[in-house]
Amino acid sequence: MPNFSVDEIRAIYRLPLFELLQKGRETFLRNWPEHDEVQLCKLMSIKTGGCSEDCGYCAQSAHFKTGTEPGKLLGVKDVLPVAEDAKQQGATRFCMGAAWKGIREDDPRFGTVVEIVRAVAGLGLEVCVTLGQIGEEAAQKLKDAGLTSYNHNLDTGSSYYSSVVTTHKFEDRVRTLRAVQSVGLALCCGGIIGMGEGEDDRLGLLASLTELYPHPESVPINCLVPIPGTPMENSSPVDVFDLVRMVATARVVLPLSKIRLAAGRSRLSKEAQALCFFAGANSVFYGDKLLTTPNSAENEDRALLAALGLKPQIPHG
Ligand code: SF4
Repeated sequence: MPNFSVDEIRAIYRLPLFELLQKGRETFLRNWPEHDEVQLCKLMSIKTGGCSEDCGYCAQSAHFKTGTEPGKLLGVKDVLPVAEDAKQQGATRFCMGAAWKGIREDDPRFGTVVEIVRAVAGLGLEVCVTLGQIGEEAAQKLKDAGLTSYNHNLDTGSSYYSSVVTTHKFEDRVRTLRAVQSVGLALCCGGIIGMGEGEDDRLGLLASLTELYPHPESVPINCLVPIPGTPMENSSPVDVFDLVRMVATARVVLPLSKIRLAAGRSRLSKEAQALCFFAGANSVFYGDKLLTTPNSAENEDRALLAALGLKPQIPHG
């Protein structure tokens, strides 16, 4: 799994669009025998709002007045029915997010999360959690409970990170990524475009992802959904061709990662989503709502996949 420098990635990203699409497509077909399958992932917030961090895009930060009410950590009995329903609706991965800076393995709330992970894994679903900063011991406990993958996004290139968040550093993120990888857990790690960053910041994010060994098992690519009350509330929408270029480039430099269309998908036309799938996206968040932002309606997703001759991924092994 090679690393790519920003210069190398730029040379790919700036190809004429159809050449880039073709390169993404070829890489996808070469590496993904199930190329007509799209993984459907359901995302649930298990602890909402009141977060100590100041990520400038986030509705859940306590630093901004976004109208998101802080909630308590949910328990197994709250989460399991939602996971069962997601499985019935065709999801093969269940992702859960908790809004806090991070958690240690001796915090009682961590014990609750471990119980939830064990219960959801028992349904035969892939399980992913995002709990902020964690160390090796916590990562190992989550793995032992049946966790498939740990989500911790790098968000943007290291050069732009301090314009997005000031309460922690890019290096803190990388430290958690290394802890997770050190116990052999797969990583889900991607970013957000449309936060005012430049092209090289976006490409710097991809370069950092290629430096992880192994590459992340999944790479969510989010388009900023501007949240009223956050510093990014007036950001302009992402140009659709920038997103398509980002997806195709990610596919080329991260050939074995699932490239996931995440937040901001509900604002994309069917045609734009089709281009992203052609370029090598093979996973989406599914369901009407992401953690706190709207998502495409489930029936529209099914209709779109059917129209494109794609199908929801069936569980493999
Ligand atoms: S992105 Fe995560 S860490 Fe940042 S403010 Fe939101 S919930 Fe907190």
